[in-house]
Amino acid sequence: MSSTDFGPATGAARALPPNYRTVLDVVETAGPGSHLTAQEIWVRARALQPRIGFATVHRGLIRLHELGSVMKIDVPGEASAVYEPAAHPHAHFRCSACGAIGDLDYVVPRAALRRLGERHGIAIEREAVTFTGRCAACNAVPPGTSDGRSTPA
Ligand SMILES: [Zn+2]
Ligand SMILES: [Zn+2]
Repeated sequence: MSSTDFGPATGAARALPPNYRTVLDVVETAGPGSHLTAQEIWVRARALQPRIGFATVHRGLIRLHELGSVMKIDVPGEASAVYEPAAHPHAHFRCSACGAIGDLDYVVPRAALRRLGERHGIAIEREAVTFTGRCAACNAVPPGTSDGRSTPA
């Protein structure tokens, strides 16, 4: 058995322009589950590289996403996409009450994706699953009791 060298992210990332490298550093330092917007990444990038422009950060994120080093999540109900380091695939959850975005340990089963692709004659390359509802903190507060008044049963 010959060992195959799959290194899509690491190999390509080494050849990045320094500004893109800075963007990747910011995303990787924030860590999995951080879900930063391009704006937030820019603010952090400027702390490392004061002259970096927003357009550069934005282009860098697009490139890093293409290379597979950074995951881009388009959250329904949010104006801007959020980014996080490439990790194992997972789904996202957005709380419609407080706006918190969290990771969920869920992937669409491969067999389901294959069947779906076959049925529609398409090649699915990427999945992005986002659930919405109430997060654990918001769910712990029953509706109408936030003012502390108890309602007679
Ligand atoms: Zn919430
Ligand atoms: Zn995530």
